[in-house]
Amino acid sequence: MSLGVKDGRRTRSASFSIIPILVVAITIIGCISLLSKSAYEANKAMERQTDAHRIEAALDNAGRDFADAVQREVMLMVQSAPERRVDMENLSRHISSEHNVDFIAVYAKSGKLLSVSSSRPEILERRHAAADALLAERRELRTPYAIRRIGMSNTLVDPKAIVSMAAINVNDMFDVVATRRFDDSALTKIGAELLLQNLRFRDVELTSPDAPEEVSSAIVWHRVDNGLVTLSSIAHIGYLGISVISLYGLLVFIHVGRVTRALESSEAEAQHMANHDALSGLPNRVLFSKMLNLELGRIVRDGGGLSVMYLDLDKFKEVNDQYGHVGGDRLIMSVADRLRGLIRTTDTVARFGGDEFAIIQANVKSPGDPAALANRILDSLRQPFLIEGAEVEIGVSVGISVAPENSIDAATLMRYADAALYRAKNEGRNRYSFFQQQLNEALKSRKAIEDDLRAGIENNELMLYYQPVVTADGGRIVSAEALVRWNHPTRGLIPPNDFISIAEERGLIGMLGEWVLRKACEDARHWPELMVAVNVSPVQFRQKDFVRTVGRILAETGMDPTRLELELTEGVVVDDADQAEAAMIELRAMGVRLALDDFGVGYSSLIYLRRFAFDKIKIDRYFLESMESTGESAILVHSIVHLGRALGLQVTAEGVETEEQRRFLQAVGCHYLQGYYFARPMPEAEIWTYIQQAGLSPKTDVNAA
Ligand code: C2E
Ligand code: CA
Ligand code: CA
Repeated sequence: MSLGVKDGRRTRSASFSIIPILVVAITIIGCISLLSKSAYEANKAMERQTDAHRIEAALDNAGRDFADAVQREVMLMVQSAPERRVDMENLSRHISSEHNVDFIAVYAKSGKLLSVSSSRPEILERRHAAADALLAERRELRTPYAIRRIGMSNTLVDPKAIVSMAAINVNDMFDVVATRRFDDSALTKIGAELLLQNLRFRDVELTSPDAPEEVSSAIVWHRVDNGLVTLSSIAHIGYLGISVISLYGLLVFIHVGRVTRALESSEAEAQHMANHDALSGLPNRVLFSKMLNLELGRIVRDGGGLSVMYLDLDKFKEVNDQYGHVGGDRLIMSVADRLRGLIRTTDTVARFGGDEFAIIQANVKSPGDPAALANRILDSLRQPFLIEGAEVEIGVSVGISVAPENSIDAATLMRYADAALYRAKNEGRNRYSFFQQQLNEALKSRKAIEDDLRAGIENNELMLYYQPVVTADGGRIVSAEALVRWNHPTRGLIPPNDFISIAEERGLIGMLGEWVLRKACEDARHWPELMVAVNVSPVQFRQKDFVRTVGRILAETGMDPTRLELELTEGVVVDDADQAEAAMIELRAMGVRLALDDFGVGYSSLIYLRRFAFDKIKIDRYFLESMESTGESAILVHSIVHLGRALGLQVTAEGVETEEQRRFLQAVGCHYLQGYYFARPMPEAEIWTYIQQAGLSPKTDVNAA
């Protein structure tokens, strides 16, 4: 058997087995046949009581919905008002017209009444007194809002209405108290939702207009079964009738329980959804701001401190591309779980969407507290995640602002945390960073770089340095990698990491990349035995005319295409694999060689290696750096080299700084090495001298594998 339960939002089906009910029913039939009429009436009274309870609950829910809606709207008005100055009259008028509001009062934080109005002047005074009381209650309880229902048995003035009154705190700036009137039409709607027929106010005459509070009002309704069976027919139909009724009553009773539970849970669900992120179940930005305001209010009152953390996952986009949205969702949920496990109950962790999370850390006593939490977060998210059966490693960047030191304004703290996050990401990710006033300066200097870069490229302020790449025995130079530098007129030599990303964001990377390529091809004419390697940014590679530009520059400089090697990163292929593949095929057809740079730091290099036609992989410096500390890296390097060789690729290791590293890399079968141990990057003018002084006779050795 199944009963459709209308909960106002969707229809739910509640099925239950008839057998246990029958057993219970037969037992009850025995009892009822003895207790007869009085038992039946007791049963009816109980049902009535349940109904009355449900009606009250529905009215309370409607009142809460009302308070929620008003709170949301007022927040919106406050946020969109210039300098957060809100015109109280305007605000009252707006809310009154949007909801069935018949009274509204606005109080300042100090409790001072800013404005009060009512569509029915006769109720103003009484409502005002009730509003004061409710506001006091809200402040006493320190809740964002308090709700009270007036009416049912002691309706003010109007016996045919019920009034919900809500005291709502807005941004800890002021309070709005408003009342919403529920009349017959509202009751009809509630009746429909509760499956009660003809729910309405009983017609009552005002006994005396001077003492309206004395008037008793009541709500009346018919149960669905009303009229089906009357008491007199019970007598005639006898036990059979009673059993039918009681079985029915029992079913309805169970049903009522289910409806009530369904209503309660769907109400809670709706409330939850407005404030939470559907995927992770964490609070969303709306709730986060509310909580932050609340916590800041507490700090202002009681002292203490808090920190705001912004988190941004590294490599989330790659996971999404690689494992699809299901994989991405899985990752977000796992991250949410880990974060939940790291914070205390007084802290809040929220998801702002995408791969952005935020945390309010309460009870912060010194900068050591946020630093410790940030370290725990970094450690935890560094552990691999299991996505679709594969172990995936990501990382996280964390930006931190603290109250009251940085600010006690929620919006400012959030902006500062964001700025700190930006810095953490810029400094190489997988780290945390506190907001510092200097950060503002850093942002300013970034701005200056942005402004100067175009002129810098045009005025020839860029320079190319070259770093030799040698055979694994250290004997011969086989190529040189071009590394760009910016000789800024006032700031001096700026390393590429400080301006490449700006060039990408500012749409200057095409121009910059073209300059580098042309210069490298021109320079390489002086050392015809060597290959020259040029780094290509993913943004540059993705430009539609990239392949044509390469062809044009090769032609214009007279450079032999087979001596040019382009260093691409995984970023090139993750975004649009098909387009990347087509471009790579064209480049190789021209004779240009392709190397996969920074190999191993990405999460899915293997897949790319098999699909895309690279000639070479360059093992990232990171592995050599961490080889000293963990033996694991050595094993990894070993297997990467094996893998590269198995796929017929040449393998270069970069960042070689010691003789031990060189020996190890040679032993595991690396073809080429690059690093400070052999030579640092040097200006074009020096590289030729270096080659001769080092006594290394350059020979083209690109195929010596
Ligand atoms: P990359 O392609 O991984 O270049 C290697 C970087 O490692 C260079 O840093 C180099 O100076 C450094 N390096 C080489 N050997 C060692 C060593 O033994 N120890 C250590 N600690 N470092 C070593 P650089 O020149 O600062 O370049 C940084 C990054 O900037 C490059 O990383 C590359 O991604 C990018 N870049 C440089 N020039 C260009 C360019 O012309 N175009 C583009 N799109 N990116 C460029
Ligand atoms: Ca490179
Ligand atoms: Ca590299």
